[in-house]
Amino acid sequence: MSNRYPLTIGVAAGKGGTGKTLIATSLALAIAESDGTPVRLLDCDVEEPNSWLLLSPDEHERRTVDVALPRVDMDLCTLCGRCAEVCEVSAIARIRDKIVIFPDLCFACGSCVFACPVNALSEVPKTVGEVRTGLTPEGVEVREGRLAVGQMRAGPVTREVRTAVEPPLVTVIDSPPGTACPMQQAVEGTDFCILVTEPTPFGRSDLRAAVETCQALGVPCGVVVNRLDPGEPVPDDLSPEGVPVLLEIPHDRGIAEAYSRGEALYRAFPAWREPLTHLYHEVRRLAGTRSE
Ligand code: SF4
Ligand code: SF4
Repeated sequence: MSNRYPLTIGVAAGKGGTGKTLIATSLALAIAESDGTPVRLLDCDVEEPNSWLLLSPDEHERRTVDVALPRVDMDLCTLCGRCAEVCEVSAIARIRDKIVIFPDLCFACGSCVFACPVNALSEVPKTVGEVRTGLTPEGVEVREGRLAVGQMRAGPVTREVRTAVEPPLVTVIDSPPGTACPMQQAVEGTDFCILVTEPTPFGRSDLRAAVETCQALGVPCGVVVNRLDPGEPVPDDLSPEGVPVLLEIPHDRGIAEAYSRGEALYRAFPAWREPLTHLYHEVRRLAGTRSE
């Protein structure tokens, strides 16, 4: 089967700390080196992006992500209350003889500005994060989103990271942990999602939620089990029906120490290159099977 068709692979985990970024970064390196396929890694874990630290790309672009928040001119406002009526999240309210805006609730949809009959509302830019782009020596383009300190609006930053100027052949998306909106925003529309888990009660429980989320999004998925005791078989409940186990990684102090030093698995341990390349081909096969 030809590898020369576009593929978008999500890497997610029902909970943080399971090894999601460990897999996403080394998978991107394996893809770049296995057949020279142009690959882009999008770090959508915008609250705690770590892919950049592990891959150390040369930065070639950085820009802020701004949203447009409403501002009221009380000299023009007639206190008609129309703006508060159209706001779906109660981020603007009439309180006695004032219009009050709650910036942390506002998601910058612009509805209130559009609805104001006397143009008393205008929009002012507010920086909520930044996106930087760089290139590794292996040819992986890394695009990282980072939420500004104190900001809660992950959505605009994640959207900006996922906006590709020109799609390369393969995109790997490092998703935020969990199964809430930020994870769904990262994984939705991908061709396949790798779910990274570990053999603990929390890992089992969160894996079930992550599988259900992928199924609800219509995204096929497979499992990478991290931190298995050497010789321990994969427990049945970490391979739900119809969800294949794609890779097993044993509990290994060396891997943990390399990760804590900021070294990608693929670079630090040559013995892992073949299994990671196999993981890529297996994902491509399963995603291709789906599209046939
Ligand atoms: S921009 Fe949208 S979310 Fe923000 S206050 Fe106006 S209507 Fe509400
Ligand atoms: S819609 Fe405009 S005029 Fe009416 S209360 Fe809001 S800001 Fe004031």
